Amino acid sequence: MREIGHFIGGKHVAGTSGRKADVFQPMTGEVIASVALASTAEMRAAVENAKAAQPAWAATNPQRRARVLMKFLELVQRDYDALAELLAREHGKTIPDARGDIQRGLEVIEFSCGIPHLMKGEYTDGAGPGIDLYSMRQALGVVAGITPFNFPAMIPMWKFGPAIACGNAFILKPSERDPGVPMHLAELMLEAGLPAGILNVVNGDKEAVDAILDDPDIQAIGFVGSSAIAQYIYARGTANGKRVQGFGGAKNHMIIMPDADLDQVVDALVGAGYGSAGERCMAISVAVPVGEATADRLIEKLVPRVESLKIGPSTDPSADLGPLVTREAVARVKGYVDTGVEEGAKLLVDGRDFTLQGYENGFYMGGCLFDHVTPDMRIYKEEIFGPVLCVVRAPDYKEALRLPTEHEYGNGVAIYTRDGDAARDFAAKVNVGMVGINVPIPVPLAYYTFGGWKRSGFGDLNQHGPDSIRFYTKTKTVTSRWPSGIKDGADFVIPTMG
Ligand code: NAD
Repeated sequence: MREIGHFIGGKHVAGTSGRKADVFQPMTGEVIASVALASTAEMRAAVENAKAAQPAWAATNPQRRARVLMKFLELVQRDYDALAELLAREHGKTIPDARGDIQRGLEVIEFSCGIPHLMKGEYTDGAGPGIDLYSMRQALGVVAGITPFNFPAMIPMWKFGPAIACGNAFILKPSERDPGVPMHLAELMLEAGLPAGILNVVNGDKEAVDAILDDPDIQAIGFVGSSAIAQYIYARGTANGKRVQGFGGAKNHMIIMPDADLDQVVDALVGAGYGSAGERCMAISVAVPVGEATADRLIEKLVPRVESLKIGPSTDPSADLGPLVTREAVARVKGYVDTGVEEGAKLLVDGRDFTLQGYENGFYMGGCLFDHVTPDMRIYKEEIFGPVLCVVRAPDYKEALRLPTEHEYGNGVAIYTRDGDAARDFAAKVNVGMVGINVPIPVPLAYYTFGGWKRSGFGDLNQHGPDSIRFYTKTKTVTSRWPSGIKDGADFVIPTMG
């Protein structure tokens, strides 16, 4: 049995709390590792270590810091296959999808390699007589990231890449469900030349998270996970005076206008709705065809595609989707399907009884498709986070715009249309943070920022892109004057440029 401890001060250290959790292999249902769950004291020790290492790292010039990230990019390429396989085995997603998980993380590391430029301040020469004004960005000190199970490579890299590039020391508390990849990434950062203590992985559960929230030396916390926890992290972290960004759950709609190319739409819907077993915060979980005729045509094309989804073990390269992450997740998602049936939605494809031959203990379920879902139903209001797509029929564009705008989540949304005017109007008016026009999963590229609105995001600065540099630095502004022999005497009136 593989024992996963922590990675602190550049070394693997065993857990001392006596508490552990099983790490499953969802495709077979077996326990493949045991992960240590840190105590408050273990977290504190990791922070002390990080705090001692951080000043020298911040004083290392930004080009040298960037070179560590460049080397890391190379090392991940070397270990790509092993990382993708480990990720698929611990998470359950297919290996090609696991490769995408790693790649989207690497793109933020690539962005972070531009840190010498990204951290440049501003300068005004001659802001007043003999006065120059400039600003500089400085690292915060020790910062932390708390990440979810569903992107165990991408989201840790989204957090530690920019934070470390800015000169901070980082404490990563990854999901206890799939900690293997984050641990390996930390080893690679060390191999790439990162000084010990700058990237620490402290595994754990609520106790470790609370220790981060209350730690006097952690300056900022980047969280990604479900909304209830995001709100909790935001409230407690900010009450303790920390900078917090908390990204939460989602209910992403796809609006299908009557003029959309329905073959394209169906391809997009099955990929974005069922890929990764629906366990993506940018998965499409609600399809909104506009007009009854569009809805009927859509359903006719969609049903056979959902029925023929290929579900397989994570190591099957031809599988469309693999298992869910845990047995509890399967039970929760099936429970939602039961609820939808009780609420009166029409279950057109029922994947609840699916089993995979030879993998009977794996955490599988088949794709489910509901039609005639209405906005008052729980299956519409709540995040299901599984391979379940709800079709809500909208009579017109106005209603289609209203649905995602008024939903409590506001992560992503997509519109499929051939009408530029409708698309433009939709993008301008919809109350959601990330919009796709004929793009089902509009995850912005690394040099833009990623973040949802409403209950999908707490705090103001987004992940990656320029916001991540602002989040992980503080601005110092210097007003400097070198008087050249001018002696004015004391001035008791506030200086102005008037
Ligand atoms: P989760 O909220 O259960 O866990 C996220 C992190 O919080 C983990 O590290 C976990 O250990 C910790 N945690 C869990 N319960 C806690 C508690 N009671 N107190 C303190 N810490 C706790 O989320 P998950 O199941 O790992 O991930 C799936 C969720 O993440 C979905 O809701 C999904 O939409 C969301 N997500 C959001 C984004 C985004 O950018 N908005 C991206 C990916 C995933």
